[in-house]
Amino acid sequence: MDGSTSTLLRVAFACLVFSGCDRQAAPGGPAANGPPADTPFIMVLGTAQDGGVPQAGAHDHPAWTQPDRRHLATSLGLVDPATGERWMFEATPDFRQQWHALDTAAGKREKNVPDGIFLTHAHMGHYTGLMFLGHESLGATGVPVHAMEQMGAFLRTNGPWSQLVTLGNISLQPLAADSTIHLTERIRVTPLRVPHRQEFSEVVAYRIEGPTRSVLFVPDIDSWEEWDAEGTRLEDVLADVDLAYVDATFYADGEIPGRDMSTFPHPFIAHTMARLERASADTKAKIRFIHLNHTNPALVAASPERRAIEAAGFGVAVRGDMESL
Ligand SMILES: [Zn+2]
Ligand SMILES: [Zn+2]
Repeated sequence: MDGSTSTLLRVAFACLVFSGCDRQAAPGGPAANGPPADTPFIMVLGTAQDGGVPQAGAHDHPAWTQPDRRHLATSLGLVDPATGERWMFEATPDFRQQWHALDTAAGKREKNVPDGIFLTHAHMGHYTGLMFLGHESLGATGVPVHAMEQMGAFLRTNGPWSQLVTLGNISLQPLAADSTIHLTERIRVTPLRVPHRQEFSEVVAYRIEGPTRSVLFVPDIDSWEEWDAEGTRLEDVLADVDLAYVDATFYADGEIPGRDMSTFPHPFIAHTMARLERASADTKAKIRFIHLNHTNPALVAASPERRAIEAAGFGVAVRGDMESL
């Protein structure tokens, strides 16, 4: 699919089900407004860093009075309309709203839980939404939760997550790095190890492949250069996908007054853009910055930083965006 068609889909699909959504479009399901009804698709369910926007305690943030400036924690949804199945990447503290949005976009059915959840790591914005599957809330049965070895062990051996396992609310599905699993005939998912603070678990990114397009999802990484040192170059990974949702926690050093941010374990947007400065326009257009901290000026659509990103040929993920696979 060419870039212009893809952009059209993004707009047409957007804002189906989110209130206070960043995109404006008429309500309707993918079959009515998007690609052919049986085309698998990705849906952006949240774009903020773990703490969301506004963050707890940031009482001066304008989002408290301007709902359109609120952002949910980073998550992607995945749907195969041919089978009716729907998956989530990450279980965030905003799980309730995100699962409602994905399930509504995917179409009505009896089952009210995801067909699977893929976790990247054990930081709060990435897995704590699992609590809504427990008996205090949904009381789910056997929701497959795909996790690497340490992540799975963390859930099995630490309350309250261990209760989800012992009560059978979730069913842990072990993943191995670089080992592809086939979700349906047309969708494959591969975890890729990435360097990031490994306090409670290893950390992975995901490569998601559909029948015609593939997507990289790397919401948290310490630096592209550490990934280089481990043998994986961002440029090589980009060459092999059609879209890449990449860690954009901070825009640039100086974003947090009074702090030396040079040692912060995230690639600044400015650094990622500089690193890819000589890349082709097509490569730059694959990038969708995601996982933005509440301090990141690029969260604001009209900000000079956001305009600089777009003028340089890159993109920022927007909640409600949909992309066919
Ligand atoms: Zn995070
Ligand atoms: Zn993290």
